[in-house]
Amino acid sequence: MFLSFFARIFYTVSCPRIQLPTMMTVQQKLEILADAAKYDASCASSGAKRAATPGGIGSTDGTGICHSYTPDGRCVSLLKILLTNFCTYDCVFCVNRVSSDIRRARFAPEEVVALTLDFYKRNYIEGLFLSSGIIQSPDYTMEQLVAVARILRQVHRFGGYIHLKTIPGCDPKLIAEAGLFADRLSANIELPTQQDLVQLAPEKKAAVIESTMGEIATRKDEADEDRRKSTLAPRFAAAGQSTQMVIGATAATDREILSTATHLYSAYKLRRVYYTGFSPYPEADTRLPLKPAPLIREHRLYQSDWLVRFYGFQASELTTPENPSLSLSEDPKTTWAKAHPEFFPIDINSAPREALLRIPGIGHKNVDRILSIRRYHLLTLGDLRKLHVRVKDAQPYCIAADHLPSAPLLAAATTVPDTDLVAAATQLDLFAPLSALTGSV
Ligand code: SF4
Repeated sequence: MFLSFFARIFYTVSCPRIQLPTMMTVQQKLEILADAAKYDASCASSGAKRAATPGGIGSTDGTGICHSYTPDGRCVSLLKILLTNFCTYDCVFCVNRVSSDIRRARFAPEEVVALTLDFYKRNYIEGLFLSSGIIQSPDYTMEQLVAVARILRQVHRFGGYIHLKTIPGCDPKLIAEAGLFADRLSANIELPTQQDLVQLAPEKKAAVIESTMGEIATRKDEADEDRRKSTLAPRFAAAGQSTQMVIGATAATDREILSTATHLYSAYKLRRVYYTGFSPYPEADTRLPLKPAPLIREHRLYQSDWLVRFYGFQASELTTPENPSLSLSEDPKTTWAKAHPEFFPIDINSAPREALLRIPGIGHKNVDRILSIRRYHLLTLGDLRKLHVRVKDAQPYCIAADHLPSAPLLAAATTVPDTDLVAAATQLDLFAPLSALTGSV
């Protein structure tokens, strides 16, 4: 059994404010540190590609893997753990903060390497998602994270996926090194606004976090430019960078959240912003809400994020200063369509791509299919059904060869409902045994 290699390991941690256990097995550490990592949602890996090397182990395909290790050893795709849940910072929303009374553990880099290789060889995982609490200093913590990736890549020639968290404020040289070994890097923005950080994460500064994102973006641009000149030039974080934002822990509105996300996408070329609804935890600070953020709010933010990135919407179009929250009862594209009756109906057989993208119920891939098909014949509602378009949602807003929406139909579609479905919806707890995360209901 692999874990017997690590029976009873002694360790020390240089953090004066923390009570240390003296001995802990790797299994015990794994239980604590895999559990501690579950609050980080920014672990999707789509976009990475790393070919197998002769004599090396593993390869990374472009398939999306976004699973995490479960302590009972069930088959998972990504070993998602913290190097340590010791942390010298005191972010109020985080269960790992220094003032939190929880069990603590810390892996040595070699232990994470051994676990990753062993799990990979057993086909439990396709890669590693590694984050960490901050111990001693940002530089020291980042050195430990980089050491794991370096040993995996250089000593063991590991070709699987690696996602490393970067520690904001660390030496840019460490980021440069991390990007050579990791497929994806991420620096968490944590909260939507600087005021939120002042309130709930006093040691964190938006400017420092953004400077780390800027460093990653610059290094990646330089590496991509070098690779255009020579395919022998080293890659840098081939799957780009991402970030995570906790929502619902403060009063920040959806408008502010989307504005921050849009700024990060454009300034630092992020591949993804992950929105994680705040989940209350036992004995949490009284400044935090008692109830979790509705899961449907997370969903609406992801839909809006998608509209901005792939449908040509501006974030500012999806909410208004007077009503800065997204509707929980309908998707943001439908809300926008109802508020802009002057824009509709759109003729699917002649309208430009940008207009088709605004019709509720028609996704961007179907827009491309419509553009291709209409070169040969005029589309009817029946054709849209064959494309799996949500015709019920789309027909009040579009003209087809056999369909012209009646004025009453369009008017009905543009009437904002006065009831909210949220009250009727049941919120699933992400981390309960029977939860949205496990798929069990
Ligand atoms: S720095 Fe990270 S791990 Fe530490 S308390 Fe803040 S959010 Fe938690």
